[in-house]
Amino acid sequence: RVRRAQNSKNVKLSQYMERGVDVKFSDVAGLGKIRLELEEIVKFFTHGEIYRRRGVKIPGGILLCGPPGVGKTLLAKAVAGEAGVNFFSISASQFVEIYVGVGASRVRALYQEARDCAPSVVFIDELDAVGRERGLIKGSGGQERDATLNQLLVCLDGFEGRGNVITIASTNRPDILDPALVRPGRFDRKIFIPKPGLIGRVEILKVHARKKPMAEDVDYAAVAAMTDGMVGAELANIVEVAAINMMRDGRTEITTDDLLQAAQIEERGMLDKKERSPEMWKQVAINEAAMAVVAINFHDLSNIEFINIAPRAGRELGYVRMKMDHIKFKEGLLSRQSLLDHITVQLAPRAADEMWHGEGQLSTIWAETADNARSAARAFVLGGLSDKYYGVSNFWAADRINDIDLEASRILDLCYGRAKELLDKNRKLMDAIVDALIEKKSLNKQEFLKLVELHGCIQPGPPSI
Ligand code: ADP
Repeated sequence: RVRRAQNSKNVKLSQYMERGVDVKFSDVAGLGKIRLELEEIVKFFTHGEIYRRRGVKIPGGILLCGPPGVGKTLLAKAVAGEAGVNFFSISASQFVEIYVGVGASRVRALYQEARDCAPSVVFIDELDAVGRERGLIKGSGGQERDATLNQLLVCLDGFEGRGNVITIASTNRPDILDPALVRPGRFDRKIFIPKPGLIGRVEILKVHARKKPMAEDVDYAAVAAMTDGMVGAELANIVEVAAINMMRDGRTEITTDDLLQAAQIEERGMLDKKERSPEMWKQVAINEAAMAVVAINFHDLSNIEFINIAPRAGRELGYVRMKMDHIKFKEGLLSRQSLLDHITVQLAPRAADEMWHGEGQLSTIWAETADNARSAARAFVLGGLSDKYYGVSNFWAADRINDIDLEASRILDLCYGRAKELLDKNRKLMDAIVDALIEKKSLNKQEFLKLVELHGCIQPGPPSI
């Protein structure tokens, strides 16, 4: 173990040092194999001499890449905590100043301190704020940033291979960094931290539950299932909100239900006690039930986590929570068939409104989902997935706006017809869900599955597009 080198004079002067950083790897959950890479960084500090003797170069900088809230800062602290070294941190946005030279002098001061108190970890948050490729920004702001970046490069080079000051930086955009930053000897090691999967979410919830009075039978897996797509910061917040919920009710233990409610708040905002007329409740219930009924025809039944029509802060009407594989298209990944299914689900509210109220009585409640369907249909055609006009040979010539729109409307019509057919065949189930929603305002997975079992779910054959 390296002893903390704290010269009292330097510590007093230090602006950037965070004192009392006592994070350990055990505080960071769901890391999987990444943990091995991080343990190696700790070894650069604790066994630096051995590396050097054997001629192994220690990286000057490590880049933690990943979306906000996945624990990059926490990990950098854990590296310092495990190695027992000092931790210096700054957000790169603090480097970017209006006055030329200020950013550069901050970088110098930061590294001066880190060196005086070495061994140390220097953590630079949001590196892309200063590390964007040079020359991309015009005017004096750009000049200032270039000066700061140059200074950072100089400082990084000063520590190359020595292993007593290691810089860890975080970014969500490793792709736009200045090439000079990622050259060998600088940030030449990248570690990608993805959003946690199901098991990762269970582990993260448990880490944050450690210091809380949890009921013994808390079902972490159920909470993890409902928080698909969430990151550590959000999961940590869920545990906090659940604790507040417990206090408010004057209880002494946090239950699964506290966590589930907190998860809904994290995702959708607080419940809003807005008044609604009986007609409006019914409209919203039909809207959401239609999406759920059409969706279960395309996905595993267990895909639907819950349906909710209670108003929440913001202008949301209600929502159906489905597992992510259904929504993956946001990340640019979706099969042809699931994109069509998605369009059909998004058109279900419009189809239901027409079927339950008649064409003359249409409302605009489905405007947003119809819009989603429209853009998805365009993406379908533009992406070359529609073989009618843009089979492989035509795809590259897909610049005829009219044709694209025509083909997109054809896809929309087909999907709309299919949504109507599905709703028509499952009218009984629809009505049962609508009634239950109006009565309870929200249905969880079990309640929903019970209705499906009771009324059956008729699935017509596969569509032909
Ligand atoms: P980032 O730097 O990636 O934006 P942070 O490290 O600031 O994320 O995360 C914010 C908070 O979220 C942490 O302080 C911690 O409470 C929680 N958190 C995030 N990821 C994890 C994780 N993998 N395990 C435990 N807690 C986490």
